[in-house]
Amino acid sequence: MTISLSTGSIRFGCDNRNKLTEFIEDNFGKSINGIELCFILKNDFDEFELTEKSISFLNSLQFNTLHAPVKGVRYGKNNGSKEVLEKILAINKLIDLKQVVLHPHGVDDFSVLVKSGLNICIENLPDGEKRKGWQFPKEFQDFFNKWPQFGFCFDVNHALANGVEPSEFISLLGEKIAYIHLNATAKPGNADHALLVDSAKEIVEKIKPVFALNKPLVIEVKVEKEKILLIRKEIELVKKLVEEKGDFVE
Ligand SMILES: [Zn+2]
Repeated sequence: MTISLSTGSIRFGCDNRNKLTEFIEDNFGKSINGIELCFILKNDFDEFELTEKSISFLNSLQFNTLHAPVKGVRYGKNNGSKEVLEKILAINKLIDLKQVVLHPHGVDDFSVLVKSGLNICIENLPDGEKRKGWQFPKEFQDFFNKWPQFGFCFDVNHALANGVEPSEFISLLGEKIAYIHLNATAKPGNADHALLVDSAKEIVEKIKPVFALNKPLVIEVKVEKEKILLIRKEIELVKKLVEEKGDFVE
């Protein structure tokens, strides 16, 4: 069982972006196997530095990943893209990133990503004008037929927000799934990245097939500052659900 936590999940609990990993170590360190360093804005990524303490904690974990910035960069043959990929490669030398995930609608040229030599995943996205073509299982099946070099990061909440059952993604793309962005939805249809502990039973039932996949789970949720420690309960629930997976697998 591999359970990792995204730094995005605790960003409201710690103001200093360079200290998010240390915050995770102090509060959840004993119960996780990895960290996803999560970036949305290129500027934040440019300013990011790994502290010595973070490097040593990350190196004690088995499944570290990085969510490449989404805003302020388009991936392709341009300087911004080159800067970001070079920085990811430098981080990879320090902490061995098992996967790098990015949002496919921000990519102009996938071959540049292949040439980086990194293990790159793309993830399914919620609805949005610029995200058309990157929401439904069939769309990803077509992409992976063309670009088998990429892995798939299955984002549970993004699927639910589009009204797609996780089982539909799993039956079509199960073998391509490298890991999972684990999150639920408190309001059906919303891209709210809710905690499973805050979501209705029916939603958790829909998510259960994910636990039988035996793939790394990265808890990627949106939690207000006052509720940050609920993530401890979330980790406990996820462990329980993984242990119970035999109940619904033949
Ligand atoms: Zn995600």
